[in-house]
Amino acid sequence: MIDHARYAAAAREAVIAASIVCREVQDNLEKVRAMTKDDKSPVTIADLASQAVVGMVLKQKLGEDLHLVAEEDSAFLRDEDNSIFLDATVAAVQGVWEGATEQKVLDAIDLGAGDTDHHSFWTLDPIDGTKGFLRNQQYAVALGFVEHGTPTIGVMGCPNLPVDMSAPLDERDNHGCLYMAIQGDGVYESACDDVNAPTIRITRLDHVEGEEISVCASVEKAHTNMNDTDRILEWIEQQGLGHPGEPARLDSQCKYAVVARGQADAYLRLPSKKPYVERIWDHAAGSCIASESGAFVTDIFGRNLDFSTGRGLENNKGIVCAPPRIHGVLIRAIEELGIGKDQATSA
Ligand code: AMP
Ligand code: MG
Repeated sequence: MIDHARYAAAAREAVIAASIVCREVQDNLEKVRAMTKDDKSPVTIADLASQAVVGMVLKQKLGEDLHLVAEEDSAFLRDEDNSIFLDATVAAVQGVWEGATEQKVLDAIDLGAGDTDHHSFWTLDPIDGTKGFLRNQQYAVALGFVEHGTPTIGVMGCPNLPVDMSAPLDERDNHGCLYMAIQGDGVYESACDDVNAPTIRITRLDHVEGEEISVCASVEKAHTNMNDTDRILEWIEQQGLGHPGEPARLDSQCKYAVVARGQADAYLRLPSKKPYVERIWDHAAGSCIASESGAFVTDIFGRNLDFSTGRGLENNKGIVCAPPRIHGVLIRAIEELGIGKDQATSA
């Protein structure tokens, strides 16, 4: 029997350590760039350091039988031409892991090379929203635990997300936020840089009829179809089903947390023309957190997300995450407007 509370506590500790590492690299963006002579190097280093730290903590806390499916691998750092990156990654990791050596860091990164064939496995995006990280805006360290195709634990560190919901979403917070959910046990919020920080339970109330509907979506144009987002909101207004607000744009699966804590009424991820299969690590943690807050999370056709098809959500298209009333309205709008119809058969 899996002890979910113990697993979630280990995941929280891992995500906090990784969030501290990411924040430290971000504080030294220019220094890292100057050292490597590469504009994007800070995200490469933080990504790999984050994965190493999560792998190491999970292994230390949960033992040998670890199945971790993570986005990155160590090939780049093992290439002798990239030794400057390896040095910088080890240095970043040492901030939270004193005994880290080159070999230990490489091995810890490769703990993430697990497969999805087990009845349960972890899945990690060590930095989700790499573009947001480089812009000093939102990104997330996202760790989910999947059992029989469903995420049952989700832990997400959002190091730049202000706890104050009246602060602009791209304003960097000193402590950031962490969300932890266990299926059937709700969502807990805390600071993302302190294991002993107090946690509070959060729940998502349903949307109140007549109030503005605020939607959040990707910053990156290629990741969601904003044109269709606008069409949906227009349709809702025309039907007299609600008054849309200006969509909030932010990177990473922080969007799920923003819905979970009631700051936005929906997270929409609508397929663009080019076929794309969503990656499991982009949705496992976030969807568990949003679901446990009381929101519904499905694809654009109203189907549950199916995490049993390997590293991609092969049976789904796009994402609709919203509290029940708005979720129903959004699915109706998508159907009425025929959005994604051309991709229905390939899903
Ligand atoms: P976001 O910050 O919400 O835009 O999501 C970032 C994630 O989008 C990355 O982790 C990628 O895995 C994923 N991604 C990359 N290309 C696409 C695409 N064409 N459509 C949707 N998601 C994508
Ligand atoms: Mg990602």
